[in-house]
Amino acid sequence: MTLDRRTFLLVAGVSAVGAVAAACGTSESTSPPVSSVPNTPVPSAPPSTYPPLGAPDWNALRAKLSGKLTLSGEAGFAAAARVFNPLFDGHKPAAVASCATPADVQACVVAAASRVPIAARSGGHSYAGYSAPDGGLVVDVGPMSKVDVQGENVVIGAGARLKDVYAALGAAGRCLPAGSCPTVGIAGLALGGGIGVLARKYGLTCDHLVSAQIVTADGKLRTASASSEPDLFWALRGGGGGNFGIVTSFTFSTDQAPSVTVFSLHFPSGSAAKVLGAWQQWIADAQPELWSNVTISGGSSVACKVGGCFVGSASELSPLLADLVAKAGVSPSTRTTQPKTYLAAMEYFSGSSSRQTFVASSRILDQPLDDPSKLVGLMTAHKGVDLLIDGLGGAVAKPSPTDTAFWHRKALASIQIYSPATPGTRDSAAKAVADIASGLAGIGAGGGYVNYLDPSLPDWMNAYYGDNATRLRQVAMNYDQNKVFGFAQGVLA
Ligand SMILES: Cc1cc2nc3c(=O)[nH]c(=O)nc-3n(C[C@H](O)[C@H](O)[C@H](O)COP(=O)(O)OP(=O)(O)OC[C@H]3O[C@@H](n4cnc5c(N)ncnc54)[C@H](O)[C@@H]3O)c2cc1C
Repeated sequence: MTLDRRTFLLVAGVSAVGAVAAACGTSESTSPPVSSVPNTPVPSAPPSTYPPLGAPDWNALRAKLSGKLTLSGEAGFAAAARVFNPLFDGHKPAAVASCATPADVQACVVAAASRVPIAARSGGHSYAGYSAPDGGLVVDVGPMSKVDVQGENVVIGAGARLKDVYAALGAAGRCLPAGSCPTVGIAGLALGGGIGVLARKYGLTCDHLVSAQIVTADGKLRTASASSEPDLFWALRGGGGGNFGIVTSFTFSTDQAPSVTVFSLHFPSGSAAKVLGAWQQWIADAQPELWSNVTISGGSSVACKVGGCFVGSASELSPLLADLVAKAGVSPSTRTTQPKTYLAAMEYFSGSSSRQTFVASSRILDQPLDDPSKLVGLMTAHKGVDLLIDGLGGAVAKPSPTDTAFWHRKALASIQIYSPATPGTRDSAAKAVADIASGLAGIGAGGGYVNYLDPSLPDWMNAYYGDNATRLRQVAMNYDQNKVFGFAQGVLA
């Protein structure tokens, strides 16, 4: 029998205190006279039903793996444990298992369940460092990274990075809507939803999920699809990475790769409120072929640019951009449009694969703000902080909020609050981000996106999952009564 991790820590760590308390309580109240008490020890907890499990047998696990197990202190451990954001370099997992097969993942779960925290790692881009749990086992699915285009579907190993997904799909003339960073892992991205520059036309990454192979807390490898484990399949589409088990591979439906036109308009300082006001009406009414975001950069003079991706030609896009400029009543200082293939567009948006030291949070804009200048006003004291306001709607809004676990179906946009940071500025950057998140909630942008997890977001469970939270907890409990996959901001927290 396995233990809830917290129960295990209590039993293993404070059993002496428990024993004393139990003995005191007994002698003061209901026990018979001392002379008649049989000479048997009073258990602090029923050991026959809750045997302390102790640490995993790492050597036994190592012998079972076809991949490599690296323990803390062994050569190569720092590199094996490294995640994307250097702010989490101080995390101290106990071991990293590099898993080459689903059987490796099963061996990890069986060996470590209820003994130490277990967290899967795909691309290692968790905003909160949850794929590097202190004292825990990192189940690195990186070696399972094959991208296999099979006609209109693609089977993707859970360790694939977006750049490899795009390269394989682009070569086959197919497309899957997904995110921007080239080294983000498909697993974390898809399990939390997957917002990208083609979302308004093709939906979220999770909307294309046909099935997933997943190792659950009991060590079983299951298939989740519309016809197999349907509740789990529902939860895997937006319920957040790490909550329900460890996915080993995904099958997604794809579309024919489109030709697109990418665009960027920089506006003069002082015009952010006008541009945002126009943009939010413009994107709300736009055809799904048009995706766009606004970046608002903080400081005494708030800067603003509009970027995007249009499924269609530059000549079709041109009147749409003219409409935005007319609505804003401000001429852009620069305006570029470039036709691109699908793959070239994904590369254009991908940015750098270098590690980034940052803190971030998110809010959700459900509808246009009555007074966009209030949002701009939140940014004047925060030089260096960016708001990235990504348009939703279109195909994202087609399913209802309860059709999948992704709750924010009807939202206008997601807002990411992003600040670069160093170990020395981490606290001040986190405070600035938290102040802005709170200010946004105050002007009507509550909610949050689970892929931009923020441990300090006060209302995170409701913000990420809304009315889906209860069902998500239930699904997680059905597969994981002992909270093997519990973590600080997990649905079982
Ligand atoms: C630079 C950058 C750009 C980004 N751009 C976008 C974007 O354009 N669109 C967008 O939607 N998001 C974006 N994100 C957010 C990103 O989607 C999330 O951070 C996501 O969780 C990262 O997934 P990962 O696999 O890389 O991270 P990891 O840290 O490996 O995993 C994230 C979470 O998922 C869990 N997990 C990992 N693998 C598995 C698995 N196989 N099975 C079950 N759980 C697993 C982990 O335990 C962890 O809790 C970006 C993040 C960064 C840092």
